[in-house]
Formats: sequence, structure tokens, C-alpha cells
Amino acid sequence: GRPVCECYSCYSGPDCSQLSPGCAANADGGDPIFLEPFWMEKAADSALVVPGWHRMSYKYADDTMMSTELESYIRKLHSIVGNAITEGRYMVFGIGSSQLLSAAVYALSSENSSSPSNVLASIPFYGMYKSQPMLFNSENFKYEGDTKSWQSNNSTSNMDVIEFVTSPNNPDGELKQSVLGGKTIYDHAYFWPHFTPILGPSDQDLMIFTLSKLTGHAGTRFGWAIVKDKDVYEKMINYINIADLGISKDTQLRALKLLKVAIEEDGKSLFQFAYNKMRDRWDRLTSVFAKSTRFSIQKIHPLHCKFFNETRLPSPAYAWVKCEREEDEDCSEVLEAGKIIGRSGSAFSANNRYTRLSLIKSQDDFELLLQRLTELVSLENGIM
Ligand code: PMP
Repeated sequence: GRPVCECYSCYSGPDCSQLSPGCAANADGGDPIFLEPFWMEKAADSALVVPGWHRMSYKYADDTMMSTELESYIRKLHSIVGNAITEGRYMVFGIGSSQLLSAAVYALSSENSSSPSNVLASIPFYGMYKSQPMLFNSENFKYEGDTKSWQSNNSTSNMDVIEFVTSPNNPDGELKQSVLGGKTIYDHAYFWPHFTPILGPSDQDLMIFTLSKLTGHAGTRFGWAIVKDKDVYEKMINYINIADLGISKDTQLRALKLLKVAIEEDGKSLFQFAYNKMRDRWDRLTSVFAKSTRFSIQKIHPLHCKFFNETRLPSPAYAWVKCEREEDEDCSEVLEAGKIIGRSGSAFSANNRYTRLSLIKSQDDFELLLQRLTELVSLENGIM
């Protein structure tokens, strides 16, 4: 057994194997710890040792802030996966993709403060698209909310809009497309074979990716943008340089080490592991929700994945749960009473009849979530 000093939360007993009866399953947050077992298998190959004298400078020998070796590995990764066109495109590194989201808004925005660019996204959408523009409170861009209400209130099509398109979407996993036809920022954080069949390479003007949801190293804080237009690229570089004097060289070194392992066997090892793990979680989750009429989750449909060369079901990072009963207006509250913690619909500018549950946390987190969901559905069916 495990020597007892301290058990993880929710577990107790001499070998930490007893689940505390009242413990809630925490399915909030987007930490991608489901990939930890993969990296434990690859512990030696992915380890990094950095002597004290290494990479002390602000810049690389070629006078840039970005590692050209890392850039070429990222291009290689996209060509193996087939999820983005990178030929003839510029690349910008950022502190996670979060920094790139605001760099992109800045770069696409109007320089005319009397008519700021309008920043929009389609409900339900990731909360950062709202909170960043509101924090920066710029004269050049303004958060304007939902694309649908925007369309019904603005008939002129020549308005200056910057639309966030998240594909697959956080929270519901949908493969989205732009609806306004203006400038777009494609957030492809989840556009990997773990979560969705890869229908073909994305060919958008501005695409953003992150290491966080690819290898699971959210703490490394590394993301990249693929940019068609030179002017937009230069503005984004300018943003990164003025905001932060470039990004961490240690982070780039770690990202390189991890990507070298990720593209081993043409990516088969990582993507097979990640897909199998997500598929297993979705199969088990689906069978629990199949027994419920009180709760439903988003429908998923098989599509042809060019990476695996097979027709497969998507396995989104989150379950988007709807409380179906009229009286269950606050779904998070209903789930919390069943000892399940999720993120309310309102965090995605959606109705609180919806709640997001994370499926990408540790195995212990997932097992507890499934147990609490099973209990809740049994209660509804009068089994307990
Ligand atoms: N975009 C989306 C859609 C996300 O869900 C997240 C993280 N939850 C991010 C961007 C930001 O991730 P990071 O800054 O770690 O790259």
C-alpha cells in the first residue's frame, strides 16, 4: 500500500482507497490531466535538463524571439495531422493561446478610435472572448456580445467586425464556422484527433493553437498563431514584444522536447492514446445519460477522420449538459445537490439550464464524476 501521510481529497483510509461518502466530483476547469499517464510512459524521452548558462539572452542568435527549430517542428506536426495549412503562412508564438487571442484582436482592430471594431462570438462561447476586451477597455475595439443578436440589430453588412470562431467549440464541441463574414479569429485549441475527427486542413486567415490541449502541458503556457497576412503578423509580433518582450525561452525549449515525442511514429502514439482515453470516457458517459430523461448531453455524429483514415465519433473535451425539467432552471444548482460541480451556462453567455462538465481531468476525477452521475440518474429512475 501507499505509505499514509496524506490522501488526495475525497479519499481516506490506511491506503487512501476509501472514497469519502459526501465528496463532490469537481468537473469544473479545463486542466488536461488526462494525458499525464502518456507522459509517465515517456518520462525519460520527454525529460529536460537545462544548465545554468543556457539561453540567458532575450533573443536567439538570429536576433528573433522565436526558436526556428520549434517553428519547423510545429509545421511538421500540422502536416502530419493534416489539421492546418502552414505553407506560406507566418507564425507567432504566445504565452499560451490566451495571449494570442488578445494580440489577434489588437492586430485586426481598427486604428480609428471614433469607430472601434466590434468583437463578437456565437453563444455558447468561451468566456475569455468577453473578459479580455472588457479588461483592456480599448478605444480601438469593443466587446459586442453574441453574433445572432448582432445580426438582428444591424442590417448593414459593412460594419467592422472581429468574430471569434471556436472549432471545435468550447463548451459544446461543435465544429463552427463564421456567421458574420467579417474578420475572423479561428480558435483551434481543440482541433486535434483526441477530440474530433479531422475532416481536412483548416485554411483560415488567422488560426490559433495551444500546447495546453495538444500535449496537456497547460502550465508551460505555450501557444501559436498561423497568420496569412503580413501586416496582421507584424502587429501581433509588436503586441507580444511590447506586452512581454517576447516569450520564455525555457518554455520554448520544453515545447520542443515535448513536440519531438508527440510526432514520434507520425503522431500515432500520442493521438491513439488521447483518442482511446476520450472515446472510453464518452462511451461510459453516453450510457449513463441514455438512462436519463431529466438530463441530456449534446448529440455527436460520426465523421470521416483523415488522420486515422476511419469514420469516428467525436469525443469532445466537455459534456454540455442540459436540465430538461421545467423547474430545473439552474442546472448547476441541481447538479451540485447531486455532488457534481460544473461550470454554469452563464459563463459561456448561455442559459443556466446548461452546465459544462470537464472530461479531460484525471482518471480519479472522471471516475468520481461518473459515479455521482450514475447516482443522480438512479435516483431519477427510483432505483435508490
Ligand atoms: N481557447 C479555448 C477555446 C480554450 O478552451 C482555452 C483554455 N481553456 C484557451 C483558448 C486558452 O488556453 P491556453 O492559454 O492555455 O492556451
